[in-house]
Amino acid sequence: MWRRTMTERSHTASITRLFNAVAVWVTFIQCTNGIPWTQEKFRHQAVTLTQNETLTALSHSDVEQMWQTYLRPLLVTRYPGSAGSHAVQELIKTSLTSLGAGWEVMEDRFISQTPYGTLPFTNVIATLNPSAKRRLVLACHYDSKYYPPQWHGREFQGATDSAVPCAMMLELAQALKEELKAQKSSSPNLTLQLIFFDGEEALFQWTSTDSLYGSRHLAQKMANTPHPPGATNTNQLHGIDLFVLLDLLGAPTPSFGNQFPSTVHWLSRLQNIEQRLHSMNQLVDHPNSVQYFWPDRPVGQIQDDHIPFLNRGVRVLHLIPSPFPSVWHTFDDNEQNLDRSAIQNLNKILQIFVLEYLNARPATPSSPQDDL
Ligand SMILES: [Zn+2]
Repeated sequence: MWRRTMTERSHTASITRLFNAVAVWVTFIQCTNGIPWTQEKFRHQAVTLTQNETLTALSHSDVEQMWQTYLRPLLVTRYPGSAGSHAVQELIKTSLTSLGAGWEVMEDRFISQTPYGTLPFTNVIATLNPSAKRRLVLACHYDSKYYPPQWHGREFQGATDSAVPCAMMLELAQALKEELKAQKSSSPNLTLQLIFFDGEEALFQWTSTDSLYGSRHLAQKMANTPHPPGATNTNQLHGIDLFVLLDLLGAPTPSFGNQFPSTVHWLSRLQNIEQRLHSMNQLVDHPNSVQYFWPDRPVGQIQDDHIPFLNRGVRVLHLIPSPFPSVWHTFDDNEQNLDRSAIQNLNKILQIFVLEYLNARPATPSSPQDDL
C-alpha cells in the first residue's frame, strides 16, 4: 500500500489526482499510526545524537569504575549453583536496583538435568519500564564454564566469556542512568531490557541438551507469557524489538561480521557510531586502520544464547567477534589478557547505540537546567 501511494503521488498531473493522492496519503498516515504494535519494530527509526549530545552522553562512561565495581567481582568461578554464581546474581540485582532509574529486576529460577545431575539455574531479567510494550534487549551469560576438580589450582575466570559483557551492561545502566530515567517518560512504549543468562556453557560437552540451559528456558517461558498482560495473541517474545547478544568481548581489536541479513542495518549503525566516535577522538588505541564492525562481511552462524529466540522468530544482533579471542576456553581467559582500550571503546559505542535506538537525547550542557 505504501508503494502504491508513492507511485500515485509521483504521477499526479491534475488537481483531482492531487486530491486523491492527498486522501490516500492521509489514509497512509492513519494506517501508520494504526499498525499493530508488533509491527512497529520493523519501521523503527533511531535518532542520531549531535556531537554535543554524544559528548554529554559519554561524560559518565568510566571504564575504571566499571572495572572495580562490576568486572572484578564477576571474575570468580560462577558455574550454575556455585557460590560464585550466587554472589554474581546478587551483584547484578543490587547494582541495578540501586541506580534509582527504577529497574524492575526479576529472576527466572528453574532446575534442569545435566550430565552432573540436577542443578539449579537462575536467569536475571531487568526491565527499565515494564509497562512499555516494546523492548530493546541486551543479553549476555554470567555463568562461567565448569572445569572438573582435576583442574584444581587453576581457576577459569571466563573474563571475555562472559564477565566483560555482563560488566559492560551494568556499566551502561550506571553511566546512562539519568538518560534512561528520562527516557521512561519521553518514550513510554519503548524500553530497555537486560537479560543475564545462567547456564550458557555446556557442563560436560556441547549438545542440544547440555548447553544454553538459561536461554532455552527463558525463551520458552516468554513465549508462554502473554504480553502485554492479558493479551490473547501476543506474548513477551513479540515485545522484543531487537535481541542484542554480547559474548566473548574484551580481547584486542575485535571484528564483528554479519550473521543475519534482517538486522544488518543495525550492525551498519554500530559501524557508523564507531566512525563518528573515531572522528570525535572519543576512541582510544583506535587508529584509522582499525575497524570493529563489518556489516559487509558475512560470517557463519554461531551457537549461542540467541538460538532459542531466533528459532521463535526474534530478530537478533549477535555481537561476538570473528574470530573468537585466542584465549577462548583456556585458563588464559583472565583479567591480565583483557584489552582495556577495546572495552572502553565498545562501552562508548554500545552506549550511544542504545540511546539512539531508544530515542533518548541527553540534555546537553547548553540547556539552562544543566548549568551546574
Ligand atoms: Zn564459553
